[in-house]
Parts: sequence; structure tokens; C-alpha cells
Amino acid sequence: MDEIKKIKFSDIRSLFPEDKWDVGFLTKEQLKFCAYSPIKGKAQEYGADYTNNIHFLAVVNSIVLVRSSPDSWDYTLYKEADAIFKKAGLQDWLPIYTNFKQAAVSAGLGVRAKNSLIYSNKFGFDMKICVIGFDGEITGHPEVVTNTTGFWDMCDGCSDCRDACPVGAINNEQEPYWLDSSRCDDYMAFGDDPRIPSIKKFWHKNIHPEVSQHEVDNMKSCTTLERELSFDANGYTLDMLEGVLKDGVAIPIPFCRECQVQARCSKWGGQFPYDEM
Ligand code: SF4
Ligand code: SF4
Repeated sequence: MDEIKKIKFSDIRSLFPEDKWDVGFLTKEQLKFCAYSPIKGKAQEYGADYTNNIHFLAVVNSIVLVRSSPDSWDYTLYKEADAIFKKAGLQDWLPIYTNFKQAAVSAGLGVRAKNSLIYSNKFGFDMKICVIGFDGEITGHPEVVTNTTGFWDMCDGCSDCRDACPVGAINNEQEPYWLDSSRCDDYMAFGDDPRIPSIKKFWHKNIHPEVSQHEVDNMKSCTTLERELSFDANGYTLDMLEGVLKDGVAIPIPFCRECQVQARCSKWGGQFPYDEM
């Protein structure tokens, strides 16, 4: 029988600069728990699929990575993490696609907030999460977190994010809290507020300005996103993982951040500087 390889958590931790990354650990059972925690839909899929199923490839344990990211549509961390592991010559690992919110909470890297997001211990809401599974045993890892229920203490008695949402998508007056994701997605993609940006406004200005304003005003729903918002002109392309690319380089696309910028829980003091992004 092959001997199980071992790798020290501290050796993995040292690969990821502290100012940009936070690193946590999941047992095999915790990863199963993440896999059995439903996700609302698959997007930006990358790696072995550990969602909405019963049986999964077996891994021994996993690493959870949280990377600082001020841009909401930036999933470049998947490939960046891969490159770091490859460069270090580590073997027997694979990227895993799972319920990343649960993974971050289970690894003790963040808490659930009442705006439906995870508040990361290190980067607040300005971050993205990924998971890497290992066939070998990770030794010297942080203590395993056992209590992953409940919400962030800071959210007690607060309704600022709900009040700030322009379309009433956040339902957190009473448990169970839930987010109306179609309302949120439609607004992020097709919102018309003069102050809050949307994907269609960026698209119209930069990619297809020849489309009439009347036609753009009538675009309201994500069910038509693929047909109407083609990123295929002026050097722009769309990569579902990396987001919008200009001449092959990922660029930030500004859209609604109203529920992540409240003074109580962010550095933005209630006003996200959309114009500076
Ligand atoms: S505004 Fe921030 S602190 Fe208040 S409930 Fe929402 S996420 Fe929690
Ligand atoms: S991103 Fe905007 S639309 Fe979506 S929940 Fe937050 S405030 Fe509401």
C-alpha cells in the first residue's frame, strides 16, 4: 500500500503573501459538508465539482484560500493559486469547486453577514475564495473550527444593507435570511440608476455604443444577457472566469456594491467610489 504523503500547513502558508492572501484548512468531512451545502447556481466553475451531488472524488484534506480583491467580478485567483502551487513543485493537489462561502466559514476565515455575503477576517467583503484539495495529509494545520452556524455579531440589530439595496433583494428582517438573487443579478447587469453603475451601462458606453439608448433602456433582465450583451468589439471579450477582458487583460467592471459599503462594516463609509474604479 502506498504511503500517504505529508505536507506542512506552514509550508503551504508561506507560498501566499500575507498582504494579499489568507489561508485556512478543511478536513475531508468539512469539505463534504461544503459539498452538501447547496449553492444557488454554478458560475465561474473551475476544478473538480463538489456541489449539489452525492458522490465526489476522494481527497484527504483541503486548503481554503481567500484573496484580497476590490473588484466584484474577478476570479483570477483560481489560476493564480494554481500557478503558485505549480511553481512550488507541489504534487497531488487539485482545484475544487464547492460552496465557497461555507468553505471560508468552516475554515474559520470569515463569518456570515446579513447581506448574504461572507465577511472575511482579513479583507472584509473585498475578497474572493477558492479551495485546493490534497491527496496527501496536511500536517500542523490550524485548529479545526466546529461551530459554523450563526451570523456575524456586527450584524445584530442592523438593517443598513437591507435599507441600502435599491431593489429590496435582501430579506433579513427575520430568519431564515435570504437573498432574492434574480433581483440582485438583474440590477447588477441592467440597473438604470444614474449614480450606481451596471454592466449594460459599461457595455453600451465601451463596446456597443451604436445600440440606441431606447433599446438599452428596455434591457431589464438577465434572461437576455447572453443575447444582448455580447462582448465582442473594440478589443473586449468575455471570459466567465476572469470577467471582461480588454485586449486580453482582465479589467474591473463597476456595478452595484450598495450592500457591502455600509459604515458599520466597511471602509467605504456608505458611499462606494464607483467613479474611481
Ligand atoms: S450593513 Fe453590514 S453590519 Fe449591518 S447587517 Fe448588513 S452586513 Fe451586517
Ligand atoms: S449588489 Fe446591489 S442589488 Fe444586489 S443585493 Fe447588494 S445592494 Fe442589492
